[in-house]
Amino acid sequence: MKIARIETFLVPPRWLFVRIETDDGIVGWGEPVVEGQADIVRAAVEQHAEYLIGLDATRIEDHWQVLTRGGFYRGGPVASSAIAGIDQALWDIAGKAHGVPVHDLLGGAVRDRIRMYGWVGGDDPSELRDNIAKQVSSGLTAVKMNGSGRMKPIGTASAINEVVERAALAREVLGPDRDMAIDFHGRMTVANSRRVLPLLEPYAPLFVEEPVVPEKSHLLEGIVASTSIPISTGERLYSRNEFLGPLQAGITVVQPDLSHAGGISEVRRIAALADIFDAQLAPHCPLGPIALASSLQIGFNTPNFLIQEQSIGIHYNVGSDVLEYLMDTSVFDFTSGYIERLTAPGLGIDIDEAAVRAADKVGHQWRSPVWRHDDGVLAEW
Ligand SMILES: [Mg+2]
Repeated sequence: MKIARIETFLVPPRWLFVRIETDDGIVGWGEPVVEGQADIVRAAVEQHAEYLIGLDATRIEDHWQVLTRGGFYRGGPVASSAIAGIDQALWDIAGKAHGVPVHDLLGGAVRDRIRMYGWVGGDDPSELRDNIAKQVSSGLTAVKMNGSGRMKPIGTASAINEVVERAALAREVLGPDRDMAIDFHGRMTVANSRRVLPLLEPYAPLFVEEPVVPEKSHLLEGIVASTSIPISTGERLYSRNEFLGPLQAGITVVQPDLSHAGGISEVRRIAALADIFDAQLAPHCPLGPIALASSLQIGFNTPNFLIQEQSIGIHYNVGSDVLEYLMDTSVFDFTSGYIERLTAPGLGIDIDEAAVRAADKVGHQWRSPVWRHDDGVLAEW
């Protein structure tokens, strides 16, 4: 079974899909994308296609090794995301060739359903109450919000109060039996973190995410020591090597993105590494249906799996949403906040190829917002 054709599709709202077809007609789909840099990743995938065409589609690990290490230079979001999408598509092909879902190829299911959480915003706290109520009424038992908007290196009393008030409001709406996670998007500093996190403890967040940017991961140990709240990070870490330091610093939730951190092959290894540190896997996924299906396949097979992010209806998804490129959207239905085990072969979803081809003609030019502080200096978004 040889790789015969590799195509990429730039589809709204901000995604890139890859379609790999074998010489016996099996088609696999992947989602190789860095949000805001989709065209750059597309070029990387197209270059990798030169190598892959004509090779055995079943040798996923060997292809992963060559694409990751064979080019001498390695790592970083663009390279790791290009490989991630190709890896997803090859696992999709392998599952379809054997007639089983990917988690069966990985050793079978260890759980029957996966707990999901939804986004409720938080950059602007005014809509938080309604957004949480909406997610709860959709059946979700956990939500995630941004903990702050722009945050100065040492926040004012009122800026810190605003963070605490968001958490208090969320806890009031959620009650004691549902969970909230708080994402700081790297907007905090050590100074802010040590002051704010103890004040959030009474509201019992499930975890606090990315208090500092990933290049400051060497400071996580002090942040972990300053609070009883579980600390998470990982959407901007791209390999098991990059997770080692944060795990040694004491983070207890790892959040690799299936479309950034080397795909199913590498995230599986990151989960095993995290298990040694008693940390739980909660894959990052504000992306499309293929990234979500890949995350779920890992979740069904990973014992130390906590919860899955998904972005159905998220504010980024203007014009298109997670469900629009699927023939059968019911695979992503929530029942009491859970998604039931995907049983179809491969990644377990059926991509609407005609819709993808039509969307690629529209394309997109999504870019990350650039935020600045009052004095004009760049702020973390
Ligand atoms: Mg995040």
